[in-house]
Amino acid sequence: EEGMNAQDLGKILHREPAEIVKKLFMLGVMTNQNQSLDKDTIELLAAEYGIEAEEKVHEDISDIDTLYTKEVEASKNSKNQVKRPPVVTIMGHVDHGKTTLLDRLRHTNVSEHEAGGITQSIGAYQVKLDDRKITFLDTPGHAAFSNMRARGAEITDIVVLVVAADDGVMPQTIEAIDHAKSAGVPIIVAVNKIDKPGANPDHVMEELMQHGLVPEDWGGDTIFVKISAKTGENVEDLLQMILLQADVLELKADPDQKAIGTVVEARLDKGRGPVADLLVQQGTLKVGDPIVIGDTYGRVRVMTNDKGRRIKEAKPSTPVEITGLNDVPSSADKLVVFDDEKTARNVGEQRAKNALEKQRENVQHVTLDNLFDTM
Ligand code: GDP
Ligand code: MG
Repeated sequence: EEGMNAQDLGKILHREPAEIVKKLFMLGVMTNQNQSLDKDTIELLAAEYGIEAEEKVHEDISDIDTLYTKEVEASKNSKNQVKRPPVVTIMGHVDHGKTTLLDRLRHTNVSEHEAGGITQSIGAYQVKLDDRKITFLDTPGHAAFSNMRARGAEITDIVVLVVAADDGVMPQTIEAIDHAKSAGVPIIVAVNKIDKPGANPDHVMEELMQHGLVPEDWGGDTIFVKISAKTGENVEDLLQMILLQADVLELKADPDQKAIGTVVEARLDKGRGPVADLLVQQGTLKVGDPIVIGDTYGRVRVMTNDKGRRIKEAKPSTPVEITGLNDVPSSADKLVVFDDEKTARNVGEQRAKNALEKQRENVQHVTLDNLFDTM
C-alpha cells in the first residue's frame, strides 16, 4: 500500500510509530512519522516483522469482529454516554407462560397515542413505561440465547425467568438459570400463573433458593415478581423491576459513535429482497449508511421500527427492520458501518468469498474423512 507512513504502519502492526521509525533507521531508511513510504520500504519492514504486508492490510478491514469490538471498547471510554433501554430475554420451562407474557407485553403497552401502533413481528419490540423503554427479544427459549452467545453476540442485559406457580422448578428452569449465570446476565424471576387455584408462589421461591436465587425479602438479591401473564396482574410491576435492574446495571451507550448491531432474524422477502431484523447496540444507525452484516453488504435503504413505521435513524437498543442488503445475513451476525459504499462492498465481497472458500475446504475435509472412514 503506497502512501502509508510510519503512523499508519504502526496501527497495522500494533507498534508505536516511533518504534517503526527506529526500526527503519536500523534498516537504513531515514524517515519521520508522517513521511509516506514506498512499497519496497513497506515490504522490507513487513518482512522484518514477519508479516506479509498486503495480507495484513486486508485482514484488518474485513475483520468485522475486530471492528465491532473496537466500537464496543470506544463506547466504554466515551464521555458521551447516555442511558439506553435494557434488552430483555424471556426464558423458562415449556408451558410456563413465556409466549403469553410476550404477547401481553406487546399489546398492553402499545401506547394509545400511537395510532395504529400494533407491534410488528421484527424479532424484538419495545415497551414503554413512564416514558422509559424496554426492549424485549421476541424469541423466547434457550436455543436462540445459546446461538447468540456461541457466536459472540451478547445482546441480552436481563433475563426474565418465567416459572409457573402451579408447576414449580423444572429441567428447563434450571437450564435457563445456568445459561444466564454463565453469561453473567442478572435474572428477574416472574412467578407466573398466580391466578390459578393450585398456585403456590412460595413453594417456587423455596425451590429456586436451592439454585442460588434468593428473594430480596428473604435476604437475597434476586428480584421476584408474582404475576399472571393471562390476566395481566402485576405485569406492570415486572416492568418496573426491569427498569430498576437496568438502573443498577447502568446501561449506557454513545449515540454519536459509529453504529454497531446484531441480527436477530433475517429472511428473503419476495418484493423487498433481503430483510434483516436487528438490534442497534451502539451509535445511531441511519438510512443510507453503508453497512456490512456478516458476509453481506449494502446500504440501509428502508428502516422500519417495531410499530411498522418508517424511521430515518435508530438509537441504541432499538430494534429495527432494514432492507438494502445484497444477500440474507444469519441471525447473530454483526453489523458495522463504513464510511463509503465502495469499501463496504469490497469488505462484504471479500467476506463472502472467504466464507465460500471455507465451505469448500470443509466439504473437502468431509470427503477425505469419509474416504478414510470407508478404508
Ligand atoms: P410457553 O411454552 O412458556 O410459551 O407457555 P405459553 O405462553 O404457551 O403458555 C402455556 C399455557 O399456559 C397456555 O395455555 C396459556 O394460556 C397458559 N398460561 C400462561 N400464562 C398463564 C397465567 O398467568 N395464568 C393461567 N391461568 N394460564 C396461563
Ligand atoms: Mg411459547
